[in-house]
Amino acid sequence: MTHPCLRCGACCAYFRVAFYWGEMASAQPGGVPDELTERRDPLRVAMRGTQQSKPRCIALQGTVTQDAHCGIYARRPSPCRDLSPAWEHGDPSPQCDRARIAHGLTPLLAEDWIALRVHQPQVTPVPRNPQ
Ligand code: SF4
Ligand code: SF4
Repeated sequence: MTHPCLRCGACCAYFRVAFYWGEMASAQPGGVPDELTERRDPLRVAMRGTQQSKPRCIALQGTVTQDAHCGIYARRPSPCRDLSPAWEHGDPSPQCDRARIAHGLTPLLAEDWIALRVHQPQVTPVPRNPQ
């Protein structure tokens, strides 16, 4: 059993991911690669692909609901860092639930994390995703 986010990616193909331009690599070392963003307004940019009618972040690799994962994980923007999968740390996540349901997945349950830690106690939970 693997971390749920590593076979999901639903939130990366559901929400608009907008953030302050100062998070870009041109503004700070190790920031979000500029070429993966597009201007939203004078102060904000968005991940390319997430402003379209059927969003899919340009940095998302793999197939949503199967093996999707972030191609810039260490450099992902703050909305992605702030979105935790439901119940990973004991709290609900309505955004995670909405994205999963929209892609035909069931919302995560607290029991899913118990099962994960029983089977892979050495696995460090992967914190995740967008606004
Ligand atoms: S945070 Fe939720 S919706 Fe996003 S990849 Fe993880 S499990 Fe899927
Ligand atoms: S976690 Fe990565 S793939 Fe998902 S929306 Fe953020 S930058 Fe894009």
